[in-house]
Amino acid sequence: MTSSTKNQAERTVLVGVPASPGFAMGKAFPIINREVSVVEETLPESRIAAEEQLFLKAVNKTVAEINKIKEISESRTGLRDSLIFATHLMILQDPGLVNGILDKIRKDHKNARWAVHVVLGSYIDKFEKIDSPAMRDKAADLRDLYNRLLGAMDDSGPVLEDVATDDGVVLVAHEFLPSFLMTIKPGQVSALAMDTGGRTSHVAILARSLQVPVVSGLRNVAALIKPEDTIIVDGSGGMVIVNPNEDDIRRFHERQEVYERQRRELFTMRRLEPMTRDGKYITLHANIELPTEAEKVMDFGATGIGLYRSEFLFFRKDAPSEQEQCEAYKQILETVAPCPVTIRTLDAGGDKLVPGITSANEANPFMGWRSIRVCLDREEIFCEQLRALLMANMRGNLRILLPMISGLSELRRAKMLINRCREELESRGHKVAAVKVGVMIEVPAAVMLVDKLAKEADFFSIGTNDLIQFTLAVDRTNELITDMFQPHHPAVLSMIYQTVMAAHRQGIPVAVCGEMGSDPFSVLLLVGLGVDELSMTPWSVMATKKIIRSMNFEDVRETALTVLTMDDAESVNAYLKAKYAQTIKDLGISSLLGDDGEKQN
Ligand code: PEP
Ligand code: MG
Repeated sequence: MTSSTKNQAERTVLVGVPASPGFAMGKAFPIINREVSVVEETLPESRIAAEEQLFLKAVNKTVAEINKIKEISESRTGLRDSLIFATHLMILQDPGLVNGILDKIRKDHKNARWAVHVVLGSYIDKFEKIDSPAMRDKAADLRDLYNRLLGAMDDSGPVLEDVATDDGVVLVAHEFLPSFLMTIKPGQVSALAMDTGGRTSHVAILARSLQVPVVSGLRNVAALIKPEDTIIVDGSGGMVIVNPNEDDIRRFHERQEVYERQRRELFTMRRLEPMTRDGKYITLHANIELPTEAEKVMDFGATGIGLYRSEFLFFRKDAPSEQEQCEAYKQILETVAPCPVTIRTLDAGGDKLVPGITSANEANPFMGWRSIRVCLDREEIFCEQLRALLMANMRGNLRILLPMISGLSELRRAKMLINRCREELESRGHKVAAVKVGVMIEVPAAVMLVDKLAKEADFFSIGTNDLIQFTLAVDRTNELITDMFQPHHPAVLSMIYQTVMAAHRQGIPVAVCGEMGSDPFSVLLLVGLGVDELSMTPWSVMATKKIIRSMNFEDVRETALTVLTMDDAESVNAYLKAKYAQTIKDLGISSLLGDDGEKQN
């Protein structure tokens, strides 16, 4: 939920989603991509009509988007902050502006993006030059519109170019894509604040790995922020403060200190067993997005890698070659050996656009041509990855994980291709170690077929981020419905339980590699439901170990069976809170996990 208050000193508090824990204060760097990504084109007559349409469609899309945000913002927060949006709508419907852009396309034969860049850009420049707070606010409104319009025409996202490598700025944008975050250099950025997104968007997941605090779902921060504003990002509480006062700064330092202390104290957990008080051992693995992260996995007390999101290797201009892939996989496998490493095959698509493979122009990208579907359609890409994986498995510690499986035919075809690649390599004289093949349970159809899948898979890994999204029909990246993304919805819990039961009937293990695996209340439930392994951001391993060591398996088992009979997520949450909130509070890990509950206004 987002709310904002603005006083005369322009101190502004915005409440959003605690997407990546931690605290940072720095100069704001609003990402505006006009200088770096808009290219001028002079069009032949035949393309004019298409460019006009592109612009007009972008206007309609932007109007619809603003109307939607305005309406929901009012009804959810009860705040009358919709004035900003009304201003945006007025500007967008100004015939002078719209006709000016259309003229640029029609008369000057310029492409739509360039026309917006020049016409709207000249308005922004004019307002920015007037030395008055009201006019600067207007320029901010126009900048926001500029970004929204360009975003509606092109999903390529912002480009980080103007930040020096040691600036430690707070980046602010309407939206960040994970591929963009990959371009940040250490020290360059201290935190992110963004209008869109929830806790399970891939940019949030990657930020947690990189330990960059993030508040997402702020809805309007990109429009409010001005370059050089000072901004506090409280990624643990889900709040940002623009132009903080002395009191804010004092509280920021206090809370940052608690966060740092809690982090330090956790290192005592490193070498302890993830065992419940009554002796139930839970395997704790780490999720990584970059091969270089493999080194820190063991330092944080994990005993293997439960998910390497291999698609992050493909976030570059040209796809990595088979040889390059093999080197990257080998680096991870050898660093962690003899512990197991689960490498997921290419899960491109959704919010993970891979240049040259997936398209930005799908209406429903999370349900589109993505993941295993792409791999089975483009066998040459898939087999290249499979051969690289099999060749890299020198120590025999590889487990291959197949994403987005929705039926047996996909699993069978993928396994057939794995075997074919193995035979091909062996016929060339290579020695190929045995490898286990697992299925991600993240599509409801897979849960419906879970008994059959269990007979043909070596292990399951439940991708709760997608499983929740698809079961509840709640887009995991949409900030307008983050409160509907309910991990403890009885439908979700029942799916997890059915998966565990089916796997155990066949004698195969079940992991959870979605973000649910590191939320303290969810950890209690997942262990109670019988999950064997949890895999999470490396930093969360020690905190999760602390939670596991505080619990009693018999007790959480009883709790899990009790909540399975409940009617809704609210009842489950209330029950868990009443029973375990104090225990979790006493663990002293609140500021590390996100949403530590301390909000200010
Ligand atoms: C999931 O869906 O829970 C998962 C672990 O995969 P990803 O977040 O990459 O979609
Ligand atoms: Mg997934």
